[in-house]
Amino acid sequence: MMTVQSFSNTLFADAESPYRDAAYVIFGAPFDGTTSFRAGTRDAPVAIRAASYNFETYLPYYDVNMLDIPFHDMGDMYCDVLPNLVADQVESVVSSLQKDKKIPVMIGGEHSITVGAVRALRPRWYIVCDAHLDLKDEFRGSPFNHDCVTARVAETVKKIIIIGPRSGIREEFAEAREKYLLYTADDVFERGMTEILDEIAGLIGDDSVYLSIDADAIDCCITPGLGTPEPFGLTPRDIQSVIKRIAKNVVGFDYVEVLPTDAGETAIVAAHLIREFIAEHYHARSG
Ligand code: MN
Ligand code: MN
Repeated sequence: MMTVQSFSNTLFADAESPYRDAAYVIFGAPFDGTTSFRAGTRDAPVAIRAASYNFETYLPYYDVNMLDIPFHDMGDMYCDVLPNLVADQVESVVSSLQKDKKIPVMIGGEHSITVGAVRALRPRWYIVCDAHLDLKDEFRGSPFNHDCVTARVAETVKKIIIIGPRSGIREEFAEAREKYLLYTADDVFERGMTEILDEIAGLIGDDSVYLSIDADAIDCCITPGLGTPEPFGLTPRDIQSVIKRIAKNVVGFDYVEVLPTDAGETAIVAAHLIREFIAEHYHARSG
C-alpha cells in the first residue's frame, strides 16, 4: 500500500491546530465590492496562504516553531455583495470567535471588512497603518466604502491612532489631527518608528487594541500589489516594529488590501507579518 505522509492544502501554512484547541483563528474575507482604482483584492486570501508555504516553520527571532503555536485556519467566509451586509457578516463571525475566546486574524479583501470586526470586539483603541485616512463619511454611494473605514470605526471606538497616511483630502487631514492621533509617513520618516512607538506604548498601557494593517501603508515601490498604490510610504520593517510593539495588547488583527497582481512581493510580506503577529502575541502572552 502507498504510504503518504502529508497532503498539501489551501490553508495557511502550519495552521494545523483543530479549532477547539486554537488560540488564534485565521479566516479570509474575500470581498472587494467597493474598490475604486484597481480591483481584485478578493484573490488575496488565497495568494497570502500560498505565499505562507515559502517560509520555514521556525522563527529564529522568537525561537519558536509555528507548528507549536495553536492556530487554526477556517478558510474563507462567504461574502454578500453589499458592503454594509458584509460588515454584518464579519461582525457575526468575529462575535462567535470572541465567544469561543479565540483571537481573530482576518485576511482581506478590501479594508471595509474591518468595520464589522471592530464592532464585534469593541476594543479601547483602534490602531491602523494605512496610506489613507479612510475618513470620508460616504463615498460613491455607501458609508461602508473602503474609503470610509476609519469614519465607521469611530462610531464604535473613540481612541484612534493612524500611522502612515500620505494621501487624502484636506478635510480628512484636519479631522484626523483634531480628533485622533496621526503619524503621517513623513512623521515616521523624520522621527523614526521607535520614538513614535514609545509614545504610543505609553498611551495605550495595557488597554485592548484592534490592529488593522492596510497593505498600502507600505511604499508601493517595495510592495506593488495594491489597489490604491502610494509611494513614499512605510517599509515592511516599520510595520514589523508596530506589530512587535503592540501585539500583546491586540484582541483582533487584520491584514487587508493586498492585490496579488505583482510578482508576489505584497502577499509574501503579508504572510510573513501575519505569522509574526501570531508569534509575537503568543510569545508575549505565554511569557
Ligand atoms: Mn484603508
Ligand atoms: Mn489605504
